[in-house]
Amino acid sequence: MRRGQKAVFFAALMLPVLVAGCQRRAAPVEDVAPAAPAAHAAPSHAAAPPPTPLSGDAAIAAKICAGNMTDLPASLFGHQKFADGPAGLVAAPAGFNMSHCPAMQGDMASGLAAMLRAARAESPAIADAIGGVSCYRGIAYQRGLYCQSPNLQLRGYAGQAYWVAPPGYSEHATGRAIDFGDRSRTDCNVSPCFAATAVGRWLSANAARFGFRLSFPKDNAAGVAHEPWHYYYVGGYVAPPPTSGGDAANANAAPITPAPSTPATSTPAPDASAPDTADSPPPAEPPPSDATAPQI
Ligand SMILES: [Zn+2]
Repeated sequence: MRRGQKAVFFAALMLPVLVAGCQRRAAPVEDVAPAAPAAHAAPSHAAAPPPTPLSGDAAIAAKICAGNMTDLPASLFGHQKFADGPAGLVAAPAGFNMSHCPAMQGDMASGLAAMLRAARAESPAIADAIGGVSCYRGIAYQRGLYCQSPNLQLRGYAGQAYWVAPPGYSEHATGRAIDFGDRSRTDCNVSPCFAATAVGRWLSANAARFGFRLSFPKDNAAGVAHEPWHYYYVGGYVAPPPTSGGDAANANAAPITPAPSTPATSTPAPDASAPDTADSPPPAEPPPSDATAPQI
């Protein structure tokens, strides 16, 4: 091969290498300063998928958690709407509060006092063990439980509502709901095993006598978790006349005025007169402390 032929042959060999080198050096420019992608560009594996728009009850729950309590539907995820009811709260019966039950509606306090007197007369061990884990919870407090729990990210709005009522949809806001506890089995408080505790079994058999209704039994109409500890005061209990042989429970149970609120399993509580935005916490309301436990 002559010298001229060698030069042409060498240039032919090197040309693809030089072109490829230029292409490799030019490529990072787009990585550093990416231009606006064309609409038809293929999605990159590194790009986050666009968020799925919320709809239905989830969209409403998101709005509530953002602080907007206007134009709320009568029910959400099976829970009925309840207005915040701090008016009329009185102190819980002495010694009843175990943690978050300092206050409740006056009529329920009367019914509860009658029940506690009956328990004292019929079963002192129950009277010693029974207490209130959580009673009145304002909407602001409920927002902390539902919206600010890390479980919301794990469960989503619907899954969270299975365990915790969204703010504005908890019976606790009325001041006529109690999460009962058992001081002899605190490990079962606000837990499914509460049903098998001495207090849980006693309440199941006796609470209705004093105007308390289990709000969320197994397979409840609301479609939420079974809560053997959560009772709502519907009132309506009237002590029967004492028998000739004496009836310790009846003798200790005072007549109870029916509660004005409608049970949660029928029609929604009247809340048109009380704006849902009135969520200022009541005096002595504790901050949410256990957002992981199911607290409807
Ligand atoms: Zn409850």
